[in-house]
Amino acid sequence: MTKQAIYAAIDAKLSHFTAISDWMYHHPEIGHKEHQAASMLAGELSAHGFAVEMPYAGLATAFKAVYRAGDGPTIALLAEYDALPGIGHGCGHNIIGCAAVLAAIGLKEGLGEGCGTVIVFGAPAEEGAVDNAGGKVFLIEHGAFVGVDAALMVHPATRNVIGGSSNAREALEIVFKGKPAHAAGAPHEGINALDAAIQTFNGFNALRQHVQSDVRIHGIISEGGVAPNIVPERAVIRLYVRASAADYLETVVEKVKNCARAGALATGAEVQFRQTAKRYKNMLNNSVLSAVFKANMEALGEEIEETQVAGAGSTDMANVSHVVPAIHPYIRISDSKLVGHSREFADATLTPAAHAGLAVGAKAMAGTVVDIFGRQDLQRALSR
Ligand SMILES: [Zn+2]
Repeated sequence: MTKQAIYAAIDAKLSHFTAISDWMYHHPEIGHKEHQAASMLAGELSAHGFAVEMPYAGLATAFKAVYRAGDGPTIALLAEYDALPGIGHGCGHNIIGCAAVLAAIGLKEGLGEGCGTVIVFGAPAEEGAVDNAGGKVFLIEHGAFVGVDAALMVHPATRNVIGGSSNAREALEIVFKGKPAHAAGAPHEGINALDAAIQTFNGFNALRQHVQSDVRIHGIISEGGVAPNIVPERAVIRLYVRASAADYLETVVEKVKNCARAGALATGAEVQFRQTAKRYKNMLNNSVLSAVFKANMEALGEEIEETQVAGAGSTDMANVSHVVPAIHPYIRISDSKLVGHSREFADATLTPAAHAGLAVGAKAMAGTVVDIFGRQDLQRALSR
């Protein structure tokens, strides 16, 4: 078992996987609809001797791919492949999916016997935009991580970062029900659901002044009536609430719901709440895994620009990190000041720098797995 052999295998297959990543850029699929991307990545693993189960955990676009190389620890690599509505791969999940699968196949090619087990979990719908987002939470509920000793993934970014945090997140839909009436002829007979939604946003804007600085409250009005001459009968807010700690998130979510209740009371509308995605936790980066991953990055000649970054976004990898030792490091795919969730970020995933980042991410993950398989001190530290 040598990293050299594994890295050589990764290099040999790199152009194949950058072509898959580029293909995903041109064919973005949103959460729970990533049929082509999931099939393609699972197919690669199957063709390389992994035992693949798909669908998995009750999700059509989830998969589990296992390669067992004797007794030893079980390490999971997490592949994401969902895109953003309207933006495509503006979060670079094409790079994530390909890096995880390439790392696993490199390991399979270069590992000897008596090392341990490598699992790739295909985890759909990380982006909260779609209903029932949070594929990794479904995996956890399915028991996928029972017997797993560590879980790794990499996420593309404009710098290499190890140990970045993420916010806990609640995704809510708030539905107001009013009463339609002629907006000019009989407005006094109507109950205006859109006004309830607007009052609610005004409540959020006042609330922002009185919450901790890590809190994010952001949303859209996805329905606000059907015609100007009809008092809006129905209005819908889709909203995320985020905070760095789960218990504080709970507090803020209640305040947010009170804003909506106030909007409903003020207008006479009825209000209903629906959680649209699994609740995401805050990321706990395992210090043992972080140190090993950092050493592997440095051995690959990579600079680590920061080791602690407070991330305002959220990821379902955080939920995994509450179940098994886990890391969610960031890999540089561009030197520019690109902003995530933008078309420019999606375009950057096609560049030579991004393809190089894909290789670095795959190698650093594979190198970390090799170190865990080979070192009992790390295995002991992880099991503590
Ligand atoms: Zn992402």
